[in-house]
Amino acid sequence: MNKNKITILVVDDTRYNLQILSTMLVNQGYAVLEATNGIEAIELAENHIPNLILLDIKMPEMNGYQVCVNLKNNPKTQQIPIIFISAIENVEEKVEAFAIGGIDFINKPFHLIEVLARVETHLRVSSLQAQLLEQTKLLEIQNISLQKEISNLTGFNQDLYSEVKEAIDTQSLRLFYQPIVNFQTDLITGFEALIRWQHPQRGLLSPIDFIDIIEKTDLIYPVGRWVLETACQQLQIWQQSFPKHADLTMSVNVSTKQLTEFNLVEYVRQTLQEYHINPQSLKLEITESTVMGDRDRTLQILDQLKDLGIQFCIDDFGTGYSSLRRLTDFPIDILKIDRSFINNEEWIIVKAIGTLAFTLGKKIVVEGIETTRQLATLKTLFSSSLDGCYGQGYLFAKPLDAESAAEFLTNVRIHIPLVVG
Ligand code: C2E
Ligand code: MG
Ligand code: MG
Repeated sequence: MNKNKITILVVDDTRYNLQILSTMLVNQGYAVLEATNGIEAIELAENHIPNLILLDIKMPEMNGYQVCVNLKNNPKTQQIPIIFISAIENVEEKVEAFAIGGIDFINKPFHLIEVLARVETHLRVSSLQAQLLEQTKLLEIQNISLQKEISNLTGFNQDLYSEVKEAIDTQSLRLFYQPIVNFQTDLITGFEALIRWQHPQRGLLSPIDFIDIIEKTDLIYPVGRWVLETACQQLQIWQQSFPKHADLTMSVNVSTKQLTEFNLVEYVRQTLQEYHINPQSLKLEITESTVMGDRDRTLQILDQLKDLGIQFCIDDFGTGYSSLRRLTDFPIDILKIDRSFINNEEWIIVKAIGTLAFTLGKKIVVEGIETTRQLATLKTLFSSSLDGCYGQGYLFAKPLDAESAAEFLTNVRIHIPLVVG
């Protein structure tokens, strides 16, 4: 340590003490500032930011404690280590010196070698602390640039991850509900729960903007549980408030990663029990990629969930690929035909998927029905199995918030004028 650059402020109202302390410190190579009262001490500390202060306690007008409190409350001076030097004997008063931020206490009459030893020790400690702080800052900077590099290499968006995490903590996620309608009765039979993010600046965000990062990271576990629980709670409310809809169903999207969650089966069982939901009313939507993953593991979990009595749909069917063997091996109840086939009017494919589903004893939900014409075509295509066909799409309703969905439920039958041809 280069002592020439180290400044020590000595504060004592007794000139004699000031003099011998200063002389000893100057002889050791330190720069010394002297103050004989509190006001002067605070002023010197603020203007020169010494490396250490030796502070007398008993002084007229402003005592050492008051000086210390003042310096500790000032962001400019609060880091300066303060050693009290005093003749006080009372233990409580000595402890008080530490409580207000002093780092050491030297009794008067003092021995110069002891003062010197303590000064040197504390200067070493504070220099090490400063180095540590510097290193920590450096590491933080390196960490940020490393995270950016990882983001660039892997496509992982650290900023979005942190933002979504905050959205979870601040309860900014919402569930919307889109009706599912039976083709034979034109009645609403259930809803699909769809996540949204009420963003403080950007408004209501679609899952397209954020679901990927949730599904790929550990965020899926808390979010998945929240979705399941909120959807079940809502279903219970609707089933109870609308006796005509006591059999209403709720479809919940579940990602592949979620299925590997420890204790998932038990969690689903408890949630159903807590909200008095008939397991038949809960439909979990998985994707073809889930079905085509680790066969044994997935099958084991699906079978356990199936034993609870819940139903499974394959979402967006036809956009990925699934082997027919798995369609029969796995406990799948419903195929949801992807909306791209409806949008592109690929009726032959729609018919083929429907026929496959019915042959295997499954039902279908056709996604993305937007026009009466599309609905009419679908009803014609599946005229012999209308009871096993369901539809979902903007024609019936867009995903609605819970209040609008409840209003929708009061309309028992959907009146869609069919335009054929
Ligand atoms: P999905 O499960 O296939 O949901 C259907 C999507 O189609 C919804 O988009 C819905 O708003 C949209 N849609 C419904 N009818 C129509 C229509 O007639 N026309 C058009 N153009 N679109 C229609 P959304 O809500 O943006 O959800 C997108 C995807 O985000 C969902 O696709 C699902 O894969 C995922 N997702 C949504 N909520 C959750 C969730 O809670 N958990 C998980 N893991 N994924 C979710
Ligand atoms: Mg879905
Ligand atoms: Mg879908």
